[in-house]
Amino acid sequence: MKYIFVTGGVVSSLGKGLAAASIGTLLERCGLKVTLQKFDPYLNVDPGTMSPFQHGEVYVLNDGAETDLDLGHYERFVHCSLSRLNNLTSGQVFESVLRKERRGDYLGKTVQYIPHVTDEIKNRLYEVTEKSDVDIIITEIGGTVGDMEGHIFLEALRQFALEVGRDNVCFIHVTLLPYIKAAGEMKTKPTQQSVAKLREIGIQPDVIICRTEYDMSEDERRKIAMFCNVEAKNVIAFRDVKNTIYECPLDLSQDKIDRIVTRRLGLDVPAPNLADWQRYVGRVISPSHSIRIAVVGKYIALQDAYKSIYESFTHAGAENDARVEILRIDAEEIEEKGAEAMIGSVDGILVPGGFGDRGIEGKIQTVEYARTKGIPFLGICLGMQVAVIEYARHICGMDDANSTEFDQKTTHPVISLQEEQKGIKAMGATMRLGAYKALIRSGTLAHKLYGKDSVTERHRHRYEFNPAYRDELENAGLVISAVNDEHGLVEVVELPDHPFFIACQYHPEFQSAPNRAHPLFSGLVSAALEHKSHS
Ligand code: GLN
Repeated sequence: MKYIFVTGGVVSSLGKGLAAASIGTLLERCGLKVTLQKFDPYLNVDPGTMSPFQHGEVYVLNDGAETDLDLGHYERFVHCSLSRLNNLTSGQVFESVLRKERRGDYLGKTVQYIPHVTDEIKNRLYEVTEKSDVDIIITEIGGTVGDMEGHIFLEALRQFALEVGRDNVCFIHVTLLPYIKAAGEMKTKPTQQSVAKLREIGIQPDVIICRTEYDMSEDERRKIAMFCNVEAKNVIAFRDVKNTIYECPLDLSQDKIDRIVTRRLGLDVPAPNLADWQRYVGRVISPSHSIRIAVVGKYIALQDAYKSIYESFTHAGAENDARVEILRIDAEEIEEKGAEAMIGSVDGILVPGGFGDRGIEGKIQTVEYARTKGIPFLGICLGMQVAVIEYARHICGMDDANSTEFDQKTTHPVISLQEEQKGIKAMGATMRLGAYKALIRSGTLAHKLYGKDSVTERHRHRYEFNPAYRDELENAGLVISAVNDEHGLVEVVELPDHPFFIACQYHPEFQSAPNRAHPLFSGLVSAALEHKSHS
C-alpha cells in the first residue's frame, strides 16, 4: 500500500480537501485504485452534532456515518465508496483510548499521548489499509500545521512513515502564497515558516502545493524549494480556479503532480487520461442554456451549508447543457415579503433539509407557490415534510397540520416521530442515518426519473410521514411513489397534475457526481428548462 498525507499550512480554507480529492482524480485516471480519508483533530466524535453555522454541511455515508463535508468532495472526485473508517476525529481517538483504559486493557501502564494516542491513530491507518482494496490511501489532515490539537496526528504520521517505509509515503503540504498589494509581490515567508514547523516534528514534505491568486514565477518556485528543502519541480502552483472546482485536477496536472507523486512512491503508471473530465468541465463552463433555481432554506448565508446540493446542480446542469443560477433565499424573508416578490421569476424551486422551526412557515408558503403556479419543485428531507404539511393544510383542510418537531400540540401531526425515535435522548448518531432501500411505484414520476423499481438512498432525519395520515392524503390526490422496503415508511411523494412536483425523505445530493448526475436533480433542471421555454 502507498500513502499520501496532505497537511495544510498558514491558514485554513486553502482548499486542502479539494487538492486531496483532485490528486485522487488524477491518480485514478493513471489507472490506480484510490481511496481517501480525513483526520479531523477536533474533539467532537463526529460533526453530526455541530451546527451548519459552525461546520457547514454534515455529509452522510452509506453506512450512516455523519462526516466532514470534504468526504463529499472525495466521493464526487473519485469512484470510492467511503465508510465510517474514513473520517477519524480526536473525539473518536480519545473515546477509544479512555474506553480501553477503563476496561483495564493497558494493564496498569501510565496511559500517554505517545505511544497510546499515537498508536490509536496509526491503528486506524492499518485498519483502513487492511479493509481497502486499493493501491493508494490519501489522508487529509484537518486544521493547520502549528495547531496544538493537530500535533499528535502529525507525530503519529511521522512514526507511521517510519514503520511502513519512507518510500511508501508521500507528504504533501498545501500552503498559501499571499499577494501583498503594496509591495506588488507574493510572499513566501509564511510557507517557509509552516514547513519549518513540519520539519520540527520530523516531517519533511515531498511536495509543496502553493495556493496563489496570481501565477507563481520561477524565482519564487526556486526560493520556496531552497528554503523548504524540496526540488523546485516539486513546488506546485495551485491557482484560484476561474469557473468551477472541477477545474482543480486539470490545474494541478499542469505542474505534473501525478508524475511527481507516482515517481516518489515508486509507481510506474501512464499519464492520466483526463478526456472525460475535460469534456465535463467544458460542459460546466460553457453551456447553451441557463435557468434560475431558488433554494429556499435556513442556512442560506453560508456557502458550505448546502454544499452537496449546490454541487448536484452543477452536475445536473452539465447533463442538461444548462447553467444553473442559484438564488439563495432565506425562508424567513418569504414570510416577510411573500413568495411572489421573492421567487416570482424563477424556473424551479428546491427546499432543502433542515432542523428547527425558524423559517418553516416561509417554506410552506414556498411549496404552496410552487404547487399552485406550476413551478418545478424538488423537496428534500425537511423539504418533503413541509410539502406534506402544505398539502394537508390546503388540500385536505387540516388547518393546523404540522410536524411534531415544530408543534407538539397540533391536532393533525402529519409528520411525527416513529416509536423507535421517541425514547431517544442523546443527540449524537441517533437519527435515521445512512442508506436504505426504497421501492418505487411504477407509473409515477419517480419511476420515470430513476427508470427502476428500487433505489438505495441516504437518510439523515428523525421525523417521518405519519402513516396514520397516509390514506387521507392519498385519497385527496397526493401520490406516494416510493416507500421503504422493510417498514413501508414514505420515501417519496409527488403530485400527478403538476409539471414537476416531487419530494423525498432522503438526501439525493449525497450520491450525485460529475458525469453521474442524480436523476431527481437532473429531472428538476430539465423541467425548469421546459418551464422557462413556456414563460
Ligand atoms: N428536521 C427534520 C427531521 O429530523 C428534517 C431533517 C433533515 O432535513 N435532514 O426529520
